Amino acid sequence: MKYLSKVYRATDVGLVRSGNEDALAIFPPECYMVADGMGGHVAGEVASGLLVRVVQEYLQGKTSLDANELRSAILVAHKEIQQVARNNAAYSGMGTTATIFHIEAGLLYWAHVGDSRLYLLRNGELVQVTRDHSYVEELVERGKLTESEARVHPQKNMLTRAVGMDGKLEVDGGQYSLEEGDTLLLATDGLMNMVPNEAICRILSEKTGDKAMRLVSEALAAGGRDNVTVIVLEYAS
Ligand code: CA
Repeated sequence: MKYLSKVYRATDVGLVRSGNEDALAIFPPECYMVADGMGGHVAGEVASGLLVRVVQEYLQGKTSLDANELRSAILVAHKEIQQVARNNAAYSGMGTTATIFHIEAGLLYWAHVGDSRLYLLRNGELVQVTRDHSYVEELVERGKLTESEARVHPQKNMLTRAVGMDGKLEVDGGQYSLEEGDTLLLATDGLMNMVPNEAICRILSEKTGDKAMRLVSEALAAGGRDNVTVIVLEYAS
């Protein structure tokens, strides 16, 4: 099968961090994912790398997928990361975000844990499909914090869910009908924390150029305080 959608991807260590704990993957059957690892030393890189590898192994070769399959793949990776962390003290407490989508017959299926995000740009409007699993997001939902206060909150990195964290994991998921001309954006928080929504929206609406590179450049120009990873898909059926 030939895919007509245009895809851009980019990842960058940023201007402050010494290593890139983000990971991304694009693999058949039309799956796209980003992950943002956390943990001491190299543990974050190990967690996001393991996630991407296990999810890919689990899903690759399946002919048809839905959100439940994507969820199951993340849960398999969750157990694997927990196991590796248990067997190696250096990896204790490691975890990762996981945001993945799959396109099949005009439908978008997605699954998600953490504070990386999936956005849909339709008719000039940027919609956040996923909900962050973070302490500040809970405060926003309870009306204790505004969106703009959340952006600069000192505890904004504190996640309430991460793949590989102790205990059971709940994975969000869902589906969407796609329309010709939709643009999908997967990104780690290194983008959202550096680049305001209006600028993201403007870059995604540009007629030419590599949109993933453009978004990453914008995050670097704003200070690049974190690793930044982006996948952009312009949907065409
Ligand atoms: Ca990050």
